[in-house]
Amino acid sequence: MKLTVNEIFYSLQGEGGRAGEASIFIRLAMCNLTCSFCDTDFAGGEEMSVDEILKIISVYPCKWIIWTGGEPTIQLKNKHLAVFRERGYKQAIETNGTRRAPSLIDYIACSPKQDYGAIKKRIPFANEIRLPVQAGEPIPDISLFPEADNYFLSPVFDADKINFENAAYCAEFVKKHPQWRLSLQTHKLIRIK
Ligand code: SF4
Repeated sequence: MKLTVNEIFYSLQGEGGRAGEASIFIRLAMCNLTCSFCDTDFAGGEEMSVDEILKIISVYPCKWIIWTGGEPTIQLKNKHLAVFRERGYKQAIETNGTRRAPSLIDYIACSPKQDYGAIKKRIPFANEIRLPVQAGEPIPDISLFPEADNYFLSPVFDADKINFENAAYCAEFVKKHPQWRLSLQTHKLIRIK
């Protein structure tokens, strides 16, 4: 049981509903989209067995894994998740919503990038929807998205710097549509990974 892993690191979740929580990030290689604002290097990777990954993450005093990418659902299946679950890990996924998430995931953060209306056929419920937004872009009605505990607007940053125009645009939208909340990429603001 192998996965192509781009990187593994220990940090805090910077954004969304779990912001501020310590988490082990496992970034899987490959994505099925090519978003213009993508700032993630997910291209390369090393093939690792689940046991090798377990050994690496065992040094961290934390039981939350965030599977991210790229698009982690391309590789990640229940057979992988079951092994980590057996060892007591809780597992979150960050997905773009273009594919079904495996059922053993404990927390789904869906960050839609396109074709918003089709997402709920694949993901009927997400713990959070986190929509990246650039100033001036139309923001679809909230009912188009899957049912979720929280709906976040995430202003697109300029690499690791906040874009105040995007942030102000999101803030104004939230004031008019308070079902949404603002989510900033705080890990970039405080310059941690
Ligand atoms: S879905 Fe995410 S990782 Fe993939 S290209 Fe878009 S922003 Fe980058």
